[in-house]
Amino acid sequence: MARVALVTGGTRGIGHAISTALKNAGYRVAANYAGNDAAAQQFQVETGIPVFKWNVGDYAACEAGCAQVAKEVGPVDVLVNNAGITRDAMLHRMTLEQWKEVISTDLDSVFNMTRQVIDGMRARNFGRVINVSSINGRKGQMGQTNYSAAKAGMHGFTKALAFEGAAKGITANTIAPGYIATEMVRAVPKEVLDTKIIPQIPVGRLGESEEIARAVVFLAADSAGFINGACFDINGGHYMAT
Ligand code: NDP
Repeated sequence: MARVALVTGGTRGIGHAISTALKNAGYRVAANYAGNDAAAQQFQVETGIPVFKWNVGDYAACEAGCAQVAKEVGPVDVLVNNAGITRDAMLHRMTLEQWKEVISTDLDSVFNMTRQVIDGMRARNFGRVINVSSINGRKGQMGQTNYSAAKAGMHGFTKALAFEGAAKGITANTIAPGYIATEMVRAVPKEVLDTKIIPQIPVGRLGESEEIARAVVFLAADSAGFINGACFDINGGHYMAT
């Protein structure tokens, strides 16, 4: 029986590519999203992957949503915590709401979601938790104290879970994408992209969502069991961690 993968924010951008790549690799996939029904419906029609709407920042909603996925698709073997948002502002202008929205969606979500599937993974002696962090959680970024804090927090979560799950066949890893051509990055003014961001990327271009998705498929595999607590930087050489 094919393994089941659940991708949060799985209907657009990087998540769209991850859901599709996992399906093409033979997984039974469920894709979560927050509120863009039109994009989710189009995704479902295009890919045949069922979509499930809930807010990953809401614990009770995650509990109900994951129960629905387990019932309709099957118990989750591979969880990809991909949903994320930005609410950029310099700290001296950042509102409490901007801080809380990002911490809730980008970091609380990792607990809210993983907590729902960890018991089943432990009981079945297999699990893959793949957290989509960011280059800006590795190096920091002007105007992103909220986002950089949330994304750096994902790394700590991943490493702690990597210890806890190992004996039960569960691995936890993060992927830290650089700048990828999705709507999130298209929100950055073109002039900033052309003059400030792309010149810092040695390969000279934005990344493609599919370039992240192939790493997720790699980490999700049964044969990836010795990769645990790692962080894959996929950024065209933009930031090379020691
Ligand atoms: P997009 O904005 O293109 O897509 C975001 C997806 O997440 C959508 O499916 C959206 O649902 C969903 N989502 C947002 N908030 C919630 C929520 N509260 N509950 C459930 N689903 C939610 O983002 P990207 O594809 O660009 O980014 C995906 C991940 O990659 C994020 O975690 C981001 O931080 C990270 N990343 C992206 C980079 C980039 O360059 N694009 C670089 C580094 C990291 P809906 O369609 O309903 O809005």
